Amino acid sequence: MTIAIIGAGMAGLACATRLAAQGRAVTVFDKGRGPGGRMATRRAEVAGETLHFDHGAQYFTVRDDRFAAQVREWEAAGVVARWPAAGEGAWVGTPGMNAPIREMSRAQNVVFGVRIEAISRVRESWQLRGEGAPDMLFDTVLIAVPAEQVGALALPHCPPLAQLATNSVSDPCWTLMVAFDAQLDAPDTLRHAGAIGWAARNSAKPGRSGAECWVIQGSPEWSRANLEEDAAHVTRLLLEAFANAVGASLPPARHTAAHRWRYAMSGGAGLGAYWDAEQRLGACGDWLLGPRIENAFLSGDTLAERVLGDG
Ligand SMILES: Cc1cc2nc3c(=O)[nH]c(=O)nc-3n(C[C@H](O)[C@H](O)[C@H](O)COP(=O)(O)OP(=O)(O)OC[C@H]3O[C@@H](n4cnc5c(N)ncnc54)[C@H](O)[C@@H]3O)c2cc1C
Repeated sequence: MTIAIIGAGMAGLACATRLAAQGRAVTVFDKGRGPGGRMATRRAEVAGETLHFDHGAQYFTVRDDRFAAQVREWEAAGVVARWPAAGEGAWVGTPGMNAPIREMSRAQNVVFGVRIEAISRVRESWQLRGEGAPDMLFDTVLIAVPAEQVGALALPHCPPLAQLATNSVSDPCWTLMVAFDAQLDAPDTLRHAGAIGWAARNSAKPGRSGAECWVIQGSPEWSRANLEEDAAHVTRLLLEAFANAVGASLPPARHTAAHRWRYAMSGGAGLGAYWDAEQRLGACGDWLLGPRIENAFLSGDTLAERVLGDG
């Protein structure tokens, strides 16, 4: 039984981990250059100093026992820590948000830098198409990408899955990464202030050090309204909004970079996972439950359970 998973974010890797633990031969493909998905950590070299920003997900919380068991393992491995500044029960990856993803992908067979453009049927098996995709055939294909990217892969084979994904609409998020020359007189986190949905002193998260680094996110409404603006304009607007929110003029910035997430916070199809046992084609991801890291994990784990249930 050979299984291909498309997408090495939290959902795809949770699925791979469970399947591999039961002896299945799993290969995960990701178009990214390294581990993270939306739990991304961005690096910038500025005047001989390396700056780090969690420019995707900011922290996660834990409700389900299955996820709690996983978080205990990560804590023992030193790749997550509590971060009370974001609220009781908040956790972050250490030294970056992508650390748990890195840890999971190390234990699996993951191929980075391969974008799967299509999947096709070859007799009873599946073939992946795209530059760098392997020549081999797989018995099972599992799609673990954001909802908006599912349709292109699923539509020719499974219109109901493509439709389900099309109905799930994500919120965008403009994200500003900024390093200041001096410490700001402000709390470590700030929520819902004008254009800003969330801002955090990235350098105050556990396991970080160095320059005064902030991640400032536009609210979903503001990000949607300004989605097609250029990055320089967005940077100016978010810095202005941030200065208003902290009620002070800001120290000079030694580095700024704005990132537009078109698909940041997913909808929630309420299904857990999607599994077509006849075709041996499935899907997992936050969008099948709701826009949280824990949900991505649970969706991946649930899909693995369904696949294992069918042999
Ligand atoms: C700005 C932002 C802030 C957020 N804040 C929080 C938060 O504070 N707390 C929280 O719990 N959640 C937060 N989230 C949501 C959280 O990041 C997601 O719910 C979770 O990471 C989704 O995991 P996933 O595996 O479903 O998808 P992803 O992490 O998106 O993984 C999908 C993977 O598929 C790959 N891929 C896509 N298409 C292809 C293809 N054709 N071929 C190969 N590979 C492909 C991508 O490179 C990616 O690595 C935030 C997200 C963003 C963007």
